[in-house]
Amino acid sequence: MNDKMKEKTIKINEIFYSIQGEGIQMGIPTVFVRTQGCNLDCSWCDTIYAMDFKNGKDMKISEIVKKVKRYSTKYVCVTGGEPLLQENVKFLISRLLKIGYNVSFETNGSVTLSGLPKNLFVSMDIKCPSSKMEKRMDFRNIKLLKKMDQLKFVINDKKDYEYAKSIIKKHKPGCNVVFMPVWGINVKKLAANVLKDGLNVRVLIQLHKLIWGDKRGK
Ligand code: SF4
Repeated sequence: MNDKMKEKTIKINEIFYSIQGEGIQMGIPTVFVRTQGCNLDCSWCDTIYAMDFKNGKDMKISEIVKKVKRYSTKYVCVTGGEPLLQENVKFLISRLLKIGYNVSFETNGSVTLSGLPKNLFVSMDIKCPSSKMEKRMDFRNIKLLKKMDQLKFVINDKKDYEYAKSIIKKHKPGCNVVFMPVWGINVKKLAANVLKDGLNVRVLIQLHKLIWGDKRGK
C-alpha cells in the first residue's frame, strides 16, 4: 500500500460481523462497513444513527481493512447511510477487491453508480412512495446495473407495490429484482400479489431481523 492511500480517510459509523440479512446473498457471514451520512430521509429508515454527518469516526482505509481482516469471512458489505457521498469509499472498495474479498455495495439509488468496479456486487434501492423519497431517485442508474447485481424495492403498502411494478415495466432491469416488505408488514400479501401478477422478482424478508429483532449492529 502506498503512502497516499494510507492517508485517505472515510467517516465510519460502525464495523460489525453478522449474517447478510437482505437480498440474494442472504445468509452469508459478512463483515459490514457502515459509512456515516445520508442525503435522504426515508420515513421508515432503520439506521437513523447513520444519517447525520456530524457523527461517526474518521478512519484510514488501512485501519478499516485491518479491522475487516479480524474476521474469517471473505465477504464484506459496504453500506450506509449512503456510501457514495464519500469519494474515498471507492478506494476502500478497490483495496478490498484487490486483496480477494467478495464486496457487496448498498446504495440508495439517488447517486450515480458510474465509476464503480465491474467485479463489485451492487445492491441498489429504488425508494417507493411510502418512503417519501421516490422523487430523489436517479433512474439512469438502472441501466448501469450488471446482470449479477440487485435492484431492491422496500414495500410498505399496495401503492408501493404498484409503483415498483410500474418502475420494472418502464425500465426493464436486467439484474436480480428483490421485493422486500418493510419490517413488520405482512409478507403473505406481498407474496400473493407477486404470484398473481406473475412477476419475475424475489420476495425476501430481512433475515437478520428475524434472527435478532430490530437491533443495531446485527
Ligand atoms: S437511504 Fe437508507 S440510511 Fe438513508 S434515510 Fe433512507 S433508509 Fe435511512
